Amino acid sequence: MTEYASTLTAEVKGERGMKEYVSTLMADVKAKNPAEPEFHQAVQEVAESLALVLDRHPEYRHARILERIIEPERVIMFRVPWQDDQGNVRINRGFRIEMNSAIGPYKGGLRFHPSVNLGILKFLAFEQVFKNALTTLPMGGGKGGSDFDPKGKSDNEVMRFCQSFMTELFRHIGPDTDVPAGDIGVGGREIGYLFGQYKRLRNEFTGVLTGKGLNWGGSLIRPEATGYGCVYFAQEMLGTRNETLQGKACLVSGSGNVAQYTVEKLLDLGAKPVTLSDSGGFIYDEAGIDREKLSFVMDLKNVRRGRIKEYADKYKRVVYTELNGKLDHNPLWNQKAHCAFPSATQNEIGGKDADNLLRNGVYVVGEGANMPSTIDAVNRFLDARILYGPGKAANAGGVATSGLEMSQNSMRLSWTREEVDNRLHLIMKSIHRACHETAQRFGTAGNYVNGANIAGFLKVADAMMDQGLV
Ligand code: NAP
Repeated sequence: MTEYASTLTAEVKGERGMKEYVSTLMADVKAKNPAEPEFHQAVQEVAESLALVLDRHPEYRHARILERIIEPERVIMFRVPWQDDQGNVRINRGFRIEMNSAIGPYKGGLRFHPSVNLGILKFLAFEQVFKNALTTLPMGGGKGGSDFDPKGKSDNEVMRFCQSFMTELFRHIGPDTDVPAGDIGVGGREIGYLFGQYKRLRNEFTGVLTGKGLNWGGSLIRPEATGYGCVYFAQEMLGTRNETLQGKACLVSGSGNVAQYTVEKLLDLGAKPVTLSDSGGFIYDEAGIDREKLSFVMDLKNVRRGRIKEYADKYKRVVYTELNGKLDHNPLWNQKAHCAFPSATQNEIGGKDADNLLRNGVYVVGEGANMPSTIDAVNRFLDARILYGPGKAANAGGVATSGLEMSQNSMRLSWTREEVDNRLHLIMKSIHRACHETAQRFGTAGNYVNGANIAGFLKVADAMMDQGLV
């Protein structure tokens, strides 16, 4: 078994020494976690930012804080057997990654998508640790899910799957231990079935999941929070240049939870969203997606569970472009616009897409999705000095509002829509301020990637130092 050797360089200082530290660490990460490219990518980005901190603070290197943060506290992997409507036995794989509990119970979503594997969930859990630290709320980081595909399944099949999944997961989670939420493929319907089964098994009505229904412990604004928060973050970034979102053309990808509420908040703030997508392709609506069209999308996606192509069948002068996996770029990112809000999935913006965005005039990127930009794309955004808000800061509004749901559950109280939205807005401002100021303090003003990674890390690292070698 490989051991992280990077402390051998603990005495090395300066830019060259830190480069060596990061490359030794990355070689170890790759050897120890083979076939997990998304996890390597997430660690690499963070490690490069942290080189700035570790150079100034050798005590973190001596305590091997980073080497500890990249090793999950616990990984749970389990069989999920269920029966489909035809009576066939189906087997999926379930996971929960309990990554870090230094500042609170593990917290992070569940993803149901056929692409789910250990590496993808580890990258998401790792990112979640920093994101949750940025929210100002006491939450550790975790993530979970399954390679189950809810698409094309009946409600009864989804229910049976969720019940089987929770029949194993329930023994590992709890309101003070680990509090899962939704993510891709896990919305209100799935959270309902999961909660029902947990309650039955434990004989307890507790805030063990967030994203619950409003009349059984859910928080107002939780469904809206990730999209709204991402737009608030973009608004703050624009504020540093005395600009607003008014009149800005915006590219949005995805058409699920995050994309829908990103569009809604963009409309509130006078911007003009022009695209949406799903795994089949994207629509471009030059006239802009207005409220009436958005409510069509919400019904299409949340109730009828149809494809975004139907938008182009319904509305005139809308262009639908089918996804072409053979292209080296996604034409969605090759449209004239001011802002881009990737809100579908990881690595949906590659180097060529980033070039296309920049060439088309995009100078604000707010990542609703987790790690939607490859390292190549991120470097191009940073080199171009645009307003680039990385996911772990820009989409933290979702988990922050989950934190607010946990507080309301503990107090057995519900706050009004305005109260939750105000708190969300204040949290997004505070995350923006922390990223902005931290980037400046470490000599890389305007680099929100460094700002987010370092600010998140410092909070977790200090808690780990206080708590000893655990
Ligand atoms: P969702 O409601 O399930 O919607 C996901 C959307 O992205 C759908 O339109 C889906 O299209 C598309 N998509 C998913 N995988 C894709 C792929 N491999 N290729 C192309 N399109 C794909 O999920 P969501 O909650 O909006 O999550 C979207 C992103 O935001 C994810 O990266 C998630 O981790 C991140 N995020 C979510 C939250 C939250 O509170 N929900 C919080 C923070 C970050 P199909 O329907 O065709 O698959």
